[in-house]
Amino acid sequence: MHYQPKSDLLNHRIILVTGASDGIGREAALTYARYGAQVVLLGRNAEKLQRVCDEVNQHSKAPALWFTLDLETATPESCRELADTIAGQVPRLDGVLHNAGLLGDVVPMAQQDPAVWQQVMRVNIDGTFFLTQALLPLLLKSEAASLVFTSSSVGRQGRAGWGAYSVSKFATEGMMQVLAEEYDPRQLRVNCINPGGTRTKMRASAFPEEDANKLKTPADIMPLYLWLMGDDSKRKTGLSFDAQPGRKPGAAE
Ligand code: NDP
Repeated sequence: MHYQPKSDLLNHRIILVTGASDGIGREAALTYARYGAQVVLLGRNAEKLQRVCDEVNQHSKAPALWFTLDLETATPESCRELADTIAGQVPRLDGVLHNAGLLGDVVPMAQQDPAVWQQVMRVNIDGTFFLTQALLPLLLKSEAASLVFTSSSVGRQGRAGWGAYSVSKFATEGMMQVLAEEYDPRQLRVNCINPGGTRTKMRASAFPEEDANKLKTPADIMPLYLWLMGDDSKRKTGLSFDAQPGRKPGAAE
């Protein structure tokens, strides 16, 4: 995507990022802060979050906040408690990027381990839904909020071996579409990003044979992540965007 955001694109915005401890989420948090946002970092590993928070604060005007939440064990109650804690520290949320995700096992359906299946669904769908529900009141305090979910090419077209991950990403697209229908896009717009093959630890575990140097880095795909959080995407809702348009799904060639 060719997009040249203004350097103050996200000034005065408060944006929460899940899975901010690593990979694409870490890069999105750093990027949003560089473009002026105050960021709220969520993840399951306190040490990693603290490190990202320190990095963000080297460049950020407003100090970043971080909180741990393990989406695998998250409940509606724990998400509401976290939302209350966040509401005690920020007046609203102008954006939420649901980026945290779990791959599970890349094996045929017949061999999917039911326990891993449920783990993937808990992280990618149940926990993400509980957190969304708990954060909606804070998003609705914004003049024009942006809620972004993270999908995948296998969330639009099923592919052999991608089991629970693929099914969870179809559900992610569904969650985005239902929410988008429920809100006036002037108040809350809801969309999905498909990052496309990107150089992270998840990608390396899905494609261990692949030459990672042939993949885009998280930094390369940030234009779409910025566009969806800024005013240039105002009123766009119910859509699923590709961060790497035209890229063929599957291993890098
Ligand atoms: P990474 O594995 O590098 O990062 C995943 C992030 O999610 C980490 O911060 C991780 O935390 C966090 N996370 C995992 N499980 C939990 C949990 N139980 N509770 C809270 N946080 C958790 O993956 P990517 O950066 O590659 O992926 C980001 C998103 O992009 C995912 O939704 C993925 O499905 C999607 N995606 C990625 C593609 C790619 O090629 N990279 C392609 C298509 C989609 P921790 O640091 O503790 O592990």
